[in-house]
Amino acid sequence: MEYCPKQVLALSEGFNRKGYHPPEVLKHGECVNCNLCEMICPDFAIFCVPADAAEAAAEGGLN
Ligand code: SF4
Repeated sequence: MEYCPKQVLALSEGFNRKGYHPPEVLKHGECVNCNLCEMICPDFAIFCVPADAAEAAAEGGLN
């Protein structure tokens, strides 16, 4: 969250199963897919997927 050049991520108010406040996307559509958050996350908890691949997966897969 701290290093995102577009301030896309924010700390969520809810807890995950491990008791952490996970990051959530605050500014939909502003991610430039630089992958910095994925590279810098110490827990490898974030991964970036291009929007078209994410939409294809949501619609039933990348066949
Ligand atoms: S890939 Fe991560 S660091 Fe880069 S703009 Fe998107 S959310 Fe921010």
